Amino acid sequence: MEYFDVIIVGGGLAGLTAALHLEQYGHAVLVCEKQQYPHHKVCGEYVSAEVVPYLKKLGISLDTTNTVSIDTLQLSTVSGKSIKGKLPLGGKGISRYALDNLLYEAALERNIPFVFGNVTAIQFADDLFQVRTASGDTFSAKMVIGAYGKRSNLDKHLDRPFFRKKSRWLGIKAHYAYQDFPDNLVALHTFEGGYGGLSRTETGAVNFCYLVSYSSFRRENDVHRFNENVVAKNPFLGAFLEDAEPLFKEPLAIAQVSFEKKETVKEHVIMCGDTAGLIHPLCGNGMAMAIHSAKLASEQIHLYLTDSTFDRGIMEKRYTALWKNNFGYRLWMGRQLQSLLINRELSHIALGLATRSPRLLRYLIKQTHGKPIL
Ligand SMILES: Cc1cc2nc3c(=O)[nH]c(=O)nc-3n(C[C@H](O)[C@H](O)[C@H](O)COP(=O)(O)OP(=O)(O)OC[C@H]3O[C@@H](n4cnc5c(N)ncnc54)[C@H](O)[C@@H]3O)c2cc1C
Repeated sequence: MEYFDVIIVGGGLAGLTAALHLEQYGHAVLVCEKQQYPHHKVCGEYVSAEVVPYLKKLGISLDTTNTVSIDTLQLSTVSGKSIKGKLPLGGKGISRYALDNLLYEAALERNIPFVFGNVTAIQFADDLFQVRTASGDTFSAKMVIGAYGKRSNLDKHLDRPFFRKKSRWLGIKAHYAYQDFPDNLVALHTFEGGYGGLSRTETGAVNFCYLVSYSSFRRENDVHRFNENVVAKNPFLGAFLEDAEPLFKEPLAIAQVSFEKKETVKEHVIMCGDTAGLIHPLCGNGMAMAIHSAKLASEQIHLYLTDSTFDRGIMEKRYTALWKNNFGYRLWMGRQLQSLLINRELSHIALGLATRSPRLLRYLIKQTHGKPIL
């Protein structure tokens, strides 16, 4: 059985970041990912600029990939009342197809090994982990990072309480050819039961990604009919869907998007990114949090692997506290803002207030974002 210092389960943004960071420290890591690269993912594809300095330290430049610089946010209510404001830090428009692959290729250059397959079991005994894939391969390691995203068979296997709760959210995304959209804008438009973001990506395509409650979607039960009969009622989205040309054969969809609280450490597995907790997409901060949490985890794991006085219990407690300090308030604020935005009356009042006070809008954006990660 092959032995590693750290096995990372899931090679999305959190997993790939942790792999690059731990490799820089000189640790032997293995990444287990169930899908080959590159691949599309349901995501708004607006990444906060707070990740730029840290990614640079890992040797990743977002400027080499035709990323789009975004500095303005537009918000609109169901009826089309809208405001625009500057994003204090701004961000980049880049598809997950390109971004995850950029990190993957950097990992390959550094000879980080990958195993492609679904991880079905993680077991901890005698201070050692065993990780098994669906094809029966087994690997062992001193540490395991769980970076397998929002929801996976592993959450059931690890008996995580959030997995038993039904989630009422669905995510849908597709790319479109559409000239009439400013490069520097990320637009967040609401509709009955949900909201969606529009922003340009490195290919020139506009990404349209939305989150919708089942109760609203169920009435149509088909993406095309839902777009036509519900989403398009927002005048901005109506104009977009009328003129934009779909570039995907069919939109991508993910079910059971859960915003429930999750454990940051479970059965000694250190959870990163969405596996530790998902922020509401309207904040545009999930990718930055995934990358940042991987940094925090890598630093604590490095201490554990190199300092004999820093035992597993201390490491787990420190990581849990760091995670809470860095992301706890942001997640709470995201929940409050989402409830406000999808309530027809309240969102109208809130947008009215924000129109009169751009400082209020800037303040709210700041509450859901972090500072540049150094
Ligand atoms: C509708 C929607 C819109 C969003 N828009 C934005 C946005 O505009 N900006 C932003 O910053 N964030 C956004 N987010 C959040 C963002 O997409 C996530 O926070 C981010 O993808 C988290 O990265 P991750 O690495 O934790 O998970 P992921 O990127 O999901 O990676 C997890 C990886 O684990 C793999 N995996 C899963 N199970 C297994 C297994 N058993 N074995 C092996 N591999 C496995 C998967 O294949 C995947 O590659 C949005 C989220 C949603 C739902």
